[in-house]
Amino acid sequence: MKTIVRKSMLYKTGVEYGDYTMNHVQGCSHGCTYPCYAMLMAKRFGRASSYEDWCEPRLVSNTLELLDREIPRLKPKIRTVHLCFTTDPFMYGYDEVSAMSVEAMRKLNAAHIPVTALSKGLLPLELAELSHDNSYGITLISLDESYREKAEPGAAPYRERIAALKELHDKGCNTWVSIEPYPSPNLIEQDLHEILEEVSFANRIIFGRTNYNRVVSSYPNVKVWYDRLAHEVISFCDANGIACHIKKGTLQLVDDAPSAPIAPSGE
Ligand code: SF4
Repeated sequence: MKTIVRKSMLYKTGVEYGDYTMNHVQGCSHGCTYPCYAMLMAKRFGRASSYEDWCEPRLVSNTLELLDREIPRLKPKIRTVHLCFTTDPFMYGYDEVSAMSVEAMRKLNAAHIPVTALSKGLLPLELAELSHDNSYGITLISLDESYREKAEPGAAPYRERIAALKELHDKGCNTWVSIEPYPSPNLIEQDLHEILEEVSFANRIIFGRTNYNRVVSSYPNVKVWYDRLAHEVISFCDANGIACHIKKGTLQLVDDAPSAPIAPSGE
């Protein structure tokens, strides 16, 4: 795969549940069409010229050297590091990306820094050998493969994603599922409960609406509809002892309220 060199790697993020983060790949072959916010930003700031360009990932070849330099300096400030916000650390079919992610996580853990990772690829079983303070997540917005082919064309099939996460769970790892961006019925008719049942083993579930999408916004009473689903997620998590987090803007009645875990965090 193509490579690039960067000047820095770890940075503090302003996003909802983040502390520090790292993005050691530019672009992402998963090519999500909801659309991908990271791609929109990359196009805006000239890091990707088109969708096709975005879908051709470039690995940051000096990632580990940068971490060796930055970890000792930033360690006192870092609570956790998240992989990744603007790419996927376990990009489906890109073993070089997965190998680099695992090595980066080893370095962070060696400095007693816990890591969270979120992927639409396959989480490798070797993650179970790393610190059990880490937590591993998958994004899962449907179980319908024909929808996956439209929305996340380059990502791993849903059942394979779930199976990889379940294996880590069975090895004692902390696991979570991000059901975001959840599609409205005018994109796909599906039963949220079936998705929840499939991942009821997870320690934590995050649920969020789809933003920046005209089709979703045009669905009648979309806010009320998301509100009802968010309550369904909360009830399901409550009944199954799963920690739950509803993303800002999804629960209509507390639209702009500070977002906080609704049940004790599993992380
Ligand atoms: S997996 Fe994430 S970074 Fe990759 S295309 Fe999809 S939304 Fe964008």
